Amino acid sequence: MLLVSEPILGAEEKAALVAVIDSGWVTMGDRVQEFEQAFARLHEAEDSVAVSSCTSALHLILHGLGIGPGDEVLVPSLTFVATANCVRYVGAQPVFVDIESAEVPLISLDEAEAKCTARTKAVIIVHFGGYLANRDAWQSFARRKGLLLIEDAAHAPGLPAAGTFGEAAAFSFYGNKNMTTAEGGAIIARSRSLREAIRRARSHGMTSGTRQRLDSRSPDYDVTMLGFNYRMDELRAAVGLAQLKRLPEWNDVRRRLSLHYRQLIAALCPSVMVPFADPWPSAHHLMPVLLPPGVSRQAVIDGLRKRGIQTTIHYPPVHHLTYYRENCPDSRLPRTEEFARRELTLPLHPRMTPETVELVVNSLAATLGAELSMEVTA
Ligand SMILES: *Cc1c(COP(=O)(O)O)cnc(C)c1O
Repeated sequence: MLLVSEPILGAEEKAALVAVIDSGWVTMGDRVQEFEQAFARLHEAEDSVAVSSCTSALHLILHGLGIGPGDEVLVPSLTFVATANCVRYVGAQPVFVDIESAEVPLISLDEAEAKCTARTKAVIIVHFGGYLANRDAWQSFARRKGLLLIEDAAHAPGLPAAGTFGEAAAFSFYGNKNMTTAEGGAIIARSRSLREAIRRARSHGMTSGTRQRLDSRSPDYDVTMLGFNYRMDELRAAVGLAQLKRLPEWNDVRRRLSLHYRQLIAALCPSVMVPFADPWPSAHHLMPVLLPPGVSRQAVIDGLRKRGIQTTIHYPPVHHLTYYRENCPDSRLPRTEEFARRELTLPLHPRMTPETVELVVNSLAATLGAELSMEVTA
């Protein structure tokens, strides 16, 4: 089965894990710090904070920025549920914003402006599929409205401009992302004081860590806030260091495969729409396409599965999920809903070759051809 995404883990990761086990120090040591610095360098930032997931990263950012009850936070609905959940964790209200268009399925600036109220405190933008949002436009919007600008950059590790938009950005190293530590995440925050608050909140609000107490021979610590345990361990950091070295090369393979997809789809499946113009600054996390209106997506999914190709959907809109229907009842986002009805995500990962891309597009053309001719007969 050709999967939509696959982690690439090998001899280097195995050796890195063995080295941690042999070292006798398994969490929050030198490797975590080294990983934080290496990740920051890749994004041209001063420093980064490694955490247990992108979800905990988002929670720590909102917590560190003091967002809380009574505040509203603008979020896209075309995203993973964690983007909205983190707003609920701090007791604030997510306000769902429609996408710009089917061609640019990123949170719409005009819609964000229309949904601003006196309670709006922040906006979380998502670089959907790895495709970078417009930095200048969002920065000037946030400045004009006095909003905190936050990036959910789960799809864009290794894209240097990601993480430079606003107050802070959250990255994911989950198993299906561009690089993985199995579970894991990182935060880039502009101000040192926010970074320090986030570091403290990551580990119970404690003023020192186990390692620092060992190094300083002082057993004392204080707790200055209600913190969490969102730490990254040495095993994950060691895997992350190995992955980071190859991330730029992997993202480049993704870029070339995406371009190949675009050319073949235009030639062989002209009724299929590929969002985003080429070139577009992107970490090419996903290969999303829109099926022609009226075609049964389930039939295409089944047809491709029969040919050994997995496909997925990005995303079931968050405002349609039961929890959010109950908690944010009257969002209507027609462009997001239409996009989500027709979207299909094709396999894209650096283990693929131009030949596997050809196999997918040929299979898509054959499956769609069968579907479209059935529609004509019916
Ligand atoms: C994967 C993902 C997350 C959550 O990442 P975890 O590391 O699994 O917590 C958040 N936002 C988006 C857009 C994602 O794709």
